[in-house]
Amino acid sequence: MREKIVVANWKMNGSLKHCREWAAGFAELPKPQQARTVVCAPFVYLTEIGRLMMPIGIEIGAEDVNENPSGAYTGEISAGMLADVGCRWCIVGHSERRQLFGETDNRVAMKALAAVKAGLRPIVCVGETLAERESGATERVILRQLTAVLSVLSPKDLGAIAYEPVWAIGTGKSATPNVAQAVHSAIRQRVAQVNAEAAQTLPILYGGSVKPESAASLFAQADIDGGLVGGAALDPVSFHAIVMAADALR
Ligand code: PEP
Repeated sequence: MREKIVVANWKMNGSLKHCREWAAGFAELPKPQQARTVVCAPFVYLTEIGRLMMPIGIEIGAEDVNENPSGAYTGEISAGMLADVGCRWCIVGHSERRQLFGETDNRVAMKALAAVKAGLRPIVCVGETLAERESGATERVILRQLTAVLSVLSPKDLGAIAYEPVWAIGTGKSATPNVAQAVHSAIRQRVAQVNAEAAQTLPILYGGSVKPESAASLFAQADIDGGLVGGAALDPVSFHAIVMAADALR
């Protein structure tokens, strides 16, 4: 059975106080038995959340990374720096990065490669806009985004793929389990063309308005191996409920 992973994406939210209260709140709740729990947070809080969360079984990750190992890139953070402060994971290609910061498929692929070279597990986000879905382009867009990454990395080096339909992120309108499963299956088939064995073990996460009420039915799908959670991950109780929905699938 593939590993189950639930990843928090805090985006540009929080404070030191929030980090401390969140960790204390999560620590009071029952520990998941098998689901991996990852919190991806703003760079400046990574050291503190590592200190607070690693002892309670949570792995930490970044929300983005620069593709270069070092140098004159003012304001940027390298994968080596992330590994240095205890990160094991790194989100790359989130739709907000693609849309608001102009990240291309190729740049996302370079970021994933930089993460792997530093020993991090990249979580590569792919997803279509509403206009792309309505024009029937969903699969073409997802496979284009995926192919860019697969052209520089072996699927066995990926930490996870996250299917995040852009129209579902932060909107409260999650994809239905069937709609999400169809895309997850297409992603797995594409990965299998490159490496059939790696396709069977690669976690494919769903992201887009996952809530405690919707998590179990999404995670019950054959090719959905957990979630990437934004809004609901800001509250430790809601996030924990989503982790436990993944944990219950044994
Ligand atoms: C995200 O930003 O990755 C995300 C899935 O957000 P939300 O859960 O709020 O839709």
